[in-house]
Amino acid sequence: MNKIRGILIGRMQPPHKGHIEVIKRILEEVDEVIIGIGSAQQSHDLNDPFTAGERIMMLTHALVENNIDPSRYYIIPMEDINFNAIWVAYVKMMTPPFKKVYSGNPLVKQLFAEEEYEVYSPPLYNRKEYSGREIRKRMLKENNWENLVCPSTVKIINEIKGVERIKNLSQKEINEV
Ligand code: NAD
Repeated sequence: MNKIRGILIGRMQPPHKGHIEVIKRILEEVDEVIIGIGSAQQSHDLNDPFTAGERIMMLTHALVENNIDPSRYYIIPMEDINFNAIWVAYVKMMTPPFKKVYSGNPLVKQLFAEEEYEVYSPPLYNRKEYSGREIRKRMLKENNWENLVCPSTVKIINEIKGVERIKNLSQKEINEV
């Protein structure tokens, strides 16, 4: 029988416990999940501090840490394109075939619904804290961000000096004459 596949696309800046919970939930409904690392071209920016490679490394280790069977997911980096109207075709070209789309993002939902995919909005887990924006904000203040991501993600962020990167990026130029 053909496998049923679902897709979840997210910037994952950085991957957090909410992403892991939603991936576990999707895997209760499909045989395989495709995880698209969105805005793959972005990095070294306050809103998008980590490269696609760093985000793939974080997610890969977090999924292992959560005992998720590696034969049940594909992690695929996806750059943004300038044309929303043909984005779904671009995603389709980059991924194994899939039927179900999981997203809380209104633009993502709209674009896939227009192409007649089955679109689902899984519940948000502890969205106040499990949110990339909240985690980046806390990193900047060095304020208790570590419990919002998996331990392996903390290790990788420390290894790549991620907090230092965010703090450096937030500094203003001060060499006025
Ligand atoms: P995100 O990392 O904020 O979220 C990814 C997914 O995880 C979302 O569906 C969200 O609902 C879910 N999620 C987040 N926190 C959660 C929590 N606490 N509990 C449960 N689920 C949670 O990423 P996003 O902004 O939705 O990413 C969409 C990507 O698609 C972006 O990279 C965007 O640029 C890309 N995109 C590109 C185009 C284009 O190139 N034209 C068009 C549309 C979207």
